[in-house]
Amino acid sequence: MISMHKSLNLMLLVVTLSVSTVTHASSTSKVVTVVTTIAPIANIIQNVGSNYVNVIAIVPSGTDSHTFEPTPSIAKLLGVADIIMVNGLDLELPTVKLAEKVKKPGTPIVMLGNKTLDRKDWQYDFSFPRQHGHPNPHLWPNIALSIRYAEIIRDSLIALDPVNKTGYIANTEVYRANLEVLDNAIFDCIKSIPEKNRKLVTYHDSFAYFAPRYGLKIVAAVQPSNFSEPRPREVIKILKQIKKENVAAIFGSEVFPSKVMRHIALETGVKFIDQLSDDELPPPPNNSFIGMMANNLTVMTDALGGDSGCMKNVNSNALVH
Ligand SMILES: [Zn+2]
Repeated sequence: MISMHKSLNLMLLVVTLSVSTVTHASSTSKVVTVVTTIAPIANIIQNVGSNYVNVIAIVPSGTDSHTFEPTPSIAKLLGVADIIMVNGLDLELPTVKLAEKVKKPGTPIVMLGNKTLDRKDWQYDFSFPRQHGHPNPHLWPNIALSIRYAEIIRDSLIALDPVNKTGYIANTEVYRANLEVLDNAIFDCIKSIPEKNRKLVTYHDSFAYFAPRYGLKIVAAVQPSNFSEPRPREVIKILKQIKKENVAAIFGSEVFPSKVMRHIALETGVKFIDQLSDDELPPPPNNSFIGMMANNLTVMTDALGGDSGCMKNVNSNALVH
């Protein structure tokens, strides 16, 4: 018993020593504090940065990122950031404005979308009209563009933390391979949908850059630019489009509950599925950007008459390493 007690003590000592060693190591080797906005981008940063970074996402899960206003506690977080990464294309204007005021002088603000897509390729539509001057910001559901996000994140982190360059490069390659599996799987999903059904009517307008890549036609996005419900005249127009295009299903999301979508579904007899997401991640173990897109495609493909087995090889773990 005595010797067991002694060895327990010894074990405790070893544990204490190793903990203090770890603490010591992390305080000398730099861990980059990255403050970002929405969960999908936070998850991409986490996959690229792995244990070299501490990622803080400031937009709470289930919150409308388009109308999000940062609170004073968020100003504090922005103030400690070594780097601030946002989507850009005007998605987070209040946050960027605040960040410019409160950030440390040397902290860069990286606008991933603006670095990814030339201004001439920005899209404007019913929900993001050109006359308001704010483009549709949803680049990330297009996986070719989210791979660019990962590369820009990698390069920005290397610029700040060159000691860990090889680590960032290796992480990005592993993550890129996983995104490429997802990208190919999305093509397979869409191909499995009968051609006449490859049409999207969504409430929130988050597939404007996704649809052209994968061969879907956007018939309508219902949500007006002020994020309220559409007016009766607009609803009548959408009803006509749905009938004319013989749309198989219409989609909403939990972040934007809409009575109008239920009304449209009743009027047209078309299925309504309110499970798409552009910035809320699914629950663990699939709480990843890739998991969110896998869910979207499973839901979409099923409802439009395709084979949702298309997502079976996709790795939805929060971290792919
Ligand atoms: Zn959105």
